[in-house]
Amino acid sequence: MDKIASPSKTKEIVSKYGFHFSKSLGQNFLIDNNIIDKIINGARITENSYVLEIGPGIGSLTQGLAEVAKKVVAVEIDQKLIPILSETLKDYNNTEIINKDVLKLDLHSLINEKLDDKETIVVGNLPYYITTPIIMKFLEEKVPVKAIIIMIQKEVAERMKAKAGTKDYGALSVAVQYYCNVETVLNVPPSVFIPQPKVESSVIRLEVLTKPRVAVEREELFFQVVKDSFGKRRKTLLNALSSGKLQINKELLKETLATCGIDEKRRGETLSIEEFAQLSNELSKIL
Ligand code: SAM
Repeated sequence: MDKIASPSKTKEIVSKYGFHFSKSLGQNFLIDNNIIDKIINGARITENSYVLEIGPGIGSLTQGLAEVAKKVVAVEIDQKLIPILSETLKDYNNTEIINKDVLKLDLHSLINEKLDDKETIVVGNLPYYITTPIIMKFLEEKVPVKAIIIMIQKEVAERMKAKAGTKDYGALSVAVQYYCNVETVLNVPPSVFIPQPKVESSVIRLEVLTKPRVAVEREELFFQVVKDSFGKRRKTLLNALSSGKLQINKELLKETLATCGIDEKRRGETLSIEEFAQLSNELSKIL
């Protein structure tokens, strides 16, 4: 089978099936095989890998994955793409297509029944508005996967990677880095898709840690402390945490911050993940 991800092959498939791109499903298909190779290299797929692909489209990336991996399960929401995928991927008997919305799937059962929890790598190029919820679904539900390699808007990639004290650092940076090591695999210009998106993209690799980066007593409290601290960006920690959802008493908060050796005048965006963990663990004694 010819490579799907060339401009001519993609146009041929699209016109053969009279397929219309859906903007609301974020259908921008990759038409550059170099980019596909780079994504597969960045995902470190080997012949022992089990791959869960989200949003295969017409199968451009799926084909490359199927050529290397042991097994590929691809979840596609758009029913109109299913007959197309049956044809474009007919030569790959290690590939299975599931016609479902990934956000509604029980990912634990899927991995348990069709993939391998020690070797599953998630790969996806999705509509950008659902990429963060999908990543967080995998991480918060502790779905057992090794790594997530996903195309996202470049600015969101910068936020996921950002370190404390930088302009991009926020609750998303803490949440992702709590669970993963984050690295950029490559930056991708709009010209390698049809139709072309308006924004620059990045492919990032999230290497899921075997245990979270920091030890926290109560995860829900840790994440609420982070949210409250970033909720009012120009406020000091003392003001942000006493007026946020947690409504912590100011005197108790002053004492707790002092115990942690954290200056109450600092702002949330200057705290490292380790400091957030220390603070939430100390707060868990009084809340
Ligand atoms: N992987 C292909 C490529 O790189 O050319 C297609 C990428 S396209 C940006 C996104 C794909 O995700 C589309 O095929 C779209 O129908 C699918 N999709 C959108 N929302 C989805 C969801 N909630 N669950 C599963 N697939 C979804």
